[in-house]
Amino acid sequence: MSTHAAAVECLGVSKSFGPVQALQATDLTLATGTLTAVLGPSGCGKTTLLRAIAGFERVDGGTIHVSGQAVAGQGLHLPPERRRVTIVPQEQALFPHLTVAGNVGYGVRRGPERDKAVAAMLELAGLAGLGDRMPHELSGGQQQRVALARALAPQPSVVLLDEPFGSLDAALRDEIRSEVAGVLRASGATSLLVTHDQEEALSMAESVAVMRSGVIVQHGPPQDVYRRPADLWVANFVGRANILAGRADGAGKVECALGVLPLVETIAAGPVDVVIRPEQLQLRVDPSGATVEDRRYFGHDVVVGVHLPGGERLLVRLPSADPLPVGSRVTVSSREPVLAFPAAAR
Ligand code: ATP
Repeated sequence: MSTHAAAVECLGVSKSFGPVQALQATDLTLATGTLTAVLGPSGCGKTTLLRAIAGFERVDGGTIHVSGQAVAGQGLHLPPERRRVTIVPQEQALFPHLTVAGNVGYGVRRGPERDKAVAAMLELAGLAGLGDRMPHELSGGQQQRVALARALAPQPSVVLLDEPFGSLDAALRDEIRSEVAGVLRASGATSLLVTHDQEEALSMAESVAVMRSGVIVQHGPPQDVYRRPADLWVANFVGRANILAGRADGAGKVECALGVLPLVETIAAGPVDVVIRPEQLQLRVDPSGATVEDRRYFGHDVVVGVHLPGGERLLVRLPSADPLPVGSRVTVSSREPVLAFPAAAR
């Protein structure tokens, strides 16, 4: 198969549970060999989409193809074991009475190739030499890699991960995320990660599909989703956003509480919501300007809350060495052109 072919294609997939429409004509295409994150708030349908792809939910409408083969739709429902799709379980889901090698080889057909496949997977997952250990003799990160190696050993076309890092503490989560992303890339598998954590989606995946109320509202590279959100809701959901009321002039500029600013993209004249990320703003000391109200220190940077004379409040992200104390008077300006959406879309 060419590396550009779709590994998974969901077209108009719908699924209801009684009155709840969990999936509403959902479209999603996963390019072969990529890691895609489905990012959305609780209850938006992420798990249902994943289970529909895996074959654990029968869809009401639409079609699903895996590696070019129809697996669901128009009366067809291939069972999970015939889809070459694997769901990676949450951490701690290893068989406690089997060794690491036993766990990894669990789903691989018995035969002369099995030991080789297990050894190759252990190597790939950075577990070489640990095959004889029991799960309880491993760190949390190593256990997660064993779970992943077990899922990948039968060489599925598609690997699905449902909130796999949910119960890990923050420090461990960060380390394990990059380990898991590395193993998935090395294996060449097509993977789909479901998460409500925007940092996880943006940092791990090559492609982010933002889901709301059973619909994928935007799908693209992380930087596009962050820098060019499809609408105000996506702008607010993915990352922090300052929203200011404004008026577009229809010629590439917008007037708002920060003055007249250039727009990233011209929009029709009229009332708009201006979207400015905290790191897009800069402050200059100005005794007659806005007031720095609060200051939160994050080590790598600080986020200050600024109260504009007109009553608006803005968050501004600054290098942590920036000395501006609470109570400073400042002028706020944007470092770059800003995004805006017609106010009616609110
Ligand atoms: P979370 O992030 O909280 O896990 P999610 O985005 O994965 O949420 P789903 O689990 O797919 O959301 O659920 C979507 C909607 O469908 C929710 O309203 C949920 O209550 C409903 N739902 C899911 N599974 C069932 C079921 N088996 N029976 C009834 N309703 C269900």
